[in-house]
This record gives sequence, C-alpha cells and structure tokens, in this order.
Amino acid sequence: MLKVGLTGGIGSGKTTVCKVFRSLGIHVYDADSQAKQLMNFEPLVKSQLMATFGEDVFQGDQLNRTMLAKLVFNDEQKLAALNAIVHPAVGRDFESWLNGYRAEKYIIKEAAIMFESGSHKSCDVIIGVVADNETRIERVMSRGGQTREEVISRMNNQMDQDELQARVDYVIDNNGQMALIPQVLHLHDIFLSEQ
Ligand code: ATP
Repeated sequence: MLKVGLTGGIGSGKTTVCKVFRSLGIHVYDADSQAKQLMNFEPLVKSQLMATFGEDVFQGDQLNRTMLAKLVFNDEQKLAALNAIVHPAVGRDFESWLNGYRAEKYIIKEAAIMFESGSHKSCDVIIGVVADNETRIERVMSRGGQTREEVISRMNNQMDQDELQARVDYVIDNNGQMALIPQVLHLHDIFLSEQ
C-alpha cells in the first residue's frame, strides 16, 4: 500500500482536493482534525498536556484551546513541548488507523504542516496543493471566521510555498485556472499503477 501525504498552507485547498480523492473511494486520514480529537480524548495526551501546561488547560473534559494557544504564542520552548506531545500521538494514531486499510492500493494523509512536524517521514510520496497567497486569503475570508490579518499571520507561520513546492513529489495547482478533477485523476492513475 502506498502512503501518500497531502499538504499545503492555509486556504490552499487541501480539504477540497481530498474531497475529490474521497469521491474516488480513497480513504483520507485528516491529521489536523485527529490531533484535535487526541488532545481532547486520548488519556495519555491529556495527562501529558496537564503535566506540561497545568491542570487548568482542561475545563472538565474540554481542552481550553484559547488558553493553550496563548501559552505557546511567541514561546518557542512551550510550542516545542506541545509539538513533542501531539506529533508523536498523531504518528501512533495514524499507524493504528493504517491497520484498517492495509488492503487498499493507496491512502492519503492530509496535514497542513507535514515537513515541519516530521509527518512526511511516514509517507512514500507527497502532494503539495498550492495557490497564490491573495487567492488563499480571499477564499479563507469568504469561508468565514478569519480576518485578512489572521490568515496572513498563519501563512507567516507556515512553510513558504516555494520551499514546499521544491520538497514535494507532485504539485496540484489550485489557482482556479487549472481544473482540479483532471489533476486528481492524473495522480490517482499514477498511484494505482505504482503497485
Ligand atoms: P485550511 O488549511 O484552512 O483548512 P484548506 O487548505 O483545507 O484550508 P480548503 O478549505 O479546501 O483549504 O479551501 C479554502 C476555501 O476555498 C474553502 O472555502 C473552499 O471551498 C474554497 N476553494 C478551494 N478551492 C477552490 C477552487 N478551486 N475554487 C473556488 N473555491 C475554492
């Protein structure tokens, strides 16, 4: 089974591209959503978070994400401590998720931060989804909930798109001029034929 990583910055279109792969019957592991689930529900992760950031980061059973975000904001050591808890937990969760799909020709692991988290090491090939910064900003703003400044701030904390393009094996251009479905079908054929 081929393990395909799929990454891209905020608003590049990862979720949209994954929807097309899902419509072809491909199973997608959403690393960002799983990380949130694990932080809320996985006993070991919860106890590590409380030991590192204090019991107050949980209100009852619920992780106070705003408080945690404030604690790690502009504090590299605390951010590294958070990543050292969450990234290995996602790695373990992905490995056990894989067990349900061993018979598949290929699966996709979607993650906004793939190289920064070391997640790429668990994949055989990587797809990068790219779009111009202005297109990404406008799409995220029209999706709702985030201001231009918030999107730019997130972009500045993520890998530069030129670097991302240089590191991935395949690029999906989501600027709007090239249709997504033929690009996905092309990669689908490649991954099926790589068996
Ligand atoms: P995030 O990292 O913030 O989760 P993402 O990379 O998963 O973002 P999407 O959620 O897929 O990106 O796309 C961002 C927004 O842009 C969504 O509202 C989506 O519907 C829209 N969008 C994505 N691709 C296109 C496209 N080719 N044409 C028009 N709108 C698009």
